[in-house]
Order: sequence, then structure tokens, then C-alpha cells
Amino acid sequence: MTDCLFCRIINGDIPSNKVYEDELVFAFRDINPQAPTHILIVPKQHIASAADITAENSAVVAHIFEVIPTIAKNEGLTNGFRVITNCGPDACQSVRHLHFHLLGGGQMADKMA
Ligand code: AMP
Ligand code: ZN
Repeated sequence: MTDCLFCRIINGDIPSNKVYEDELVFAFRDINPQAPTHILIVPKQHIASAADITAENSAVVAHIFEVIPTIAKNEGLTNGFRVITNCGPDACQSVRHLHFHLLGGGQMADKMA
């Protein structure tokens, strides 16, 4: 989708600080980090949000969770990390392309909302 920011990052139209890529997944550093390590992990396939995950497209979501340990290890997140996806207005989703925030590199608050 040419009007989707993350599709444009994936296809290289908009530059990003890439940390991982394979045939299904693209991961890059968040432009406004909220933790010492803040990476966005996105499916190359345009899926709008977690509310749009189905039996037909969920394999890529499983794959994202398979690569998260590798990315976390590469980033040195040996003491833990947090994975978050914001879905819809109540959760303040600002980019309508499914993405998982990988946060780490220090102690985080115990409350998430
Ligand atoms: P969300 O609010 O959950 O939809 O997350 C969107 C995230 O995308 C925010 O954390 C933004 O800082 C991040 N973001 C927006 N534009 C860019 C960009 N061009 N490169 C990297 N991260 C971005
Ligand atoms: Zn997209």
C-alpha cells in the first residue's frame, strides 16, 4: 500500500534504521524511542492491526514471535524485554500497519496502562 508509512519503509521509499529482515518480516528502530532499545517489528504483508489477524494471515505473526528472541539477543536484552502492539484508537495506534514494539535495555514500569 503506497499510502502506508510502514509499507513505504519496508519497500525502501522511506529510510529506516533496519535491524532485521527476512522474507516475511522487517524490523527497524523506532524514530521516537521510549526505552534504551525500542524496535518495531512488522510483517511485510500489510495487515492493519491486531484486530485484522485471521487464520489466513496468522502464520506471519507466529513468525514474528519466532524471530523476536533473535532480535532481542542481538540487542543484548539478556535481562528481559517487553513486546506490545497497540490496536485501535483506545490504545493510541498511530500507524495502521500491524507492528510489535520490542522494548528493553533497562527496568520498565510494572504497569502498562
Ligand atoms: P503506534 O503508536 O503503536 O502505532 O506506534 C507507531 C510507532 O511508529 C511510534 O512509536 C512512532 O515513534 C514510530 N514511527 C513513526 N514514524 C516512524 C519512522 N519514520 N521511523 C521509525 N519509527 C516511526
Ligand atoms: Zn502497510
